[in-house]
Amino acid sequence: MTTTREQLPEPLRETSHTRIEHDPLADPMAAEDAARAFLGCLGVSLEPEAMQKTPGRMARAYSDLLNPRPFTLTTFPNEHGHRDFVIARNIPMHSVCEHHFLPFSGVAHVGYLPGARIVGLSKLARTVEYFSRRPQVQERLTHQIASWLAEQLDADAVGAVVEAEHLCMSIRGVQAAGSTTTTSVMLGSLGKDAELRREFLTLVGLAGPGR
Ligand SMILES: [Zn+2]
Repeated sequence: MTTTREQLPEPLRETSHTRIEHDPLADPMAAEDAARAFLGCLGVSLEPEAMQKTPGRMARAYSDLLNPRPFTLTTFPNEHGHRDFVIARNIPMHSVCEHHFLPFSGVAHVGYLPGARIVGLSKLARTVEYFSRRPQVQERLTHQIASWLAEQLDADAVGAVVEAEHLCMSIRGVQAAGSTTTTSVMLGSLGKDAELRREFLTLVGLAGPGR
C-alpha cells in the first residue's frame, strides 16, 4: 500500500523561526601564534615532533569551546493544548569558566509548561549548547537558558538546572575533584508554586525518594 499525500497528517500551519548564529574564531592564524607564545612563556618546549602542531590544535580546541553550531529555533502552535511538563534531562553541557579559562562540564535539565507555543525537543539541547559555548559562569548560563526559552516560548513556566564539575576547582585551587556545582533557575509559575517546583525536580530526578 502506498501512502498518499492526503493520508499524511496536515502540516502545522503556523511556525516561527529564530535563526541563531555565532561569530566564528576571529583570527585563527593569530590565535595559533598567540598559543605558541603563551606556551613559550609557560616554559613549555615545542621541540618534540609530537608538539610542533600543538599551538594550532590548542587554538582550534578553544575555538570549538567558544562556538556553538548555528541552529534554527522553530516553535509551533500548541494545537492540542498540551498543558503538562515537557522536559529534556541530562543534556551534555561543556563550557569555559570566564575566570580561569578552563572547561567546566556536566549536564543540564531543561523543561517548560507549554503555553501558546511548543518547540522541537532537540532545540532544548541546542539552546544549552548555544549559551554554553562562550566564556561563562554557571549561574549566568542557567539563567540565560531559562530566560531565553521563556521569552521564545511565551511559556507558563520554565525551569533550568545545571550540574557541572569545574576543572578550575577540581585540578587546581581547592582540588575538590569529583565535586559538582548545581544551579537552578525557575521562572513563571515554577518560581511561585512549591508543588509545581517539586513535580519538576522529581521529573528531572533531583527530588523525591532516594534524594
Ligand atoms: Zn574558574
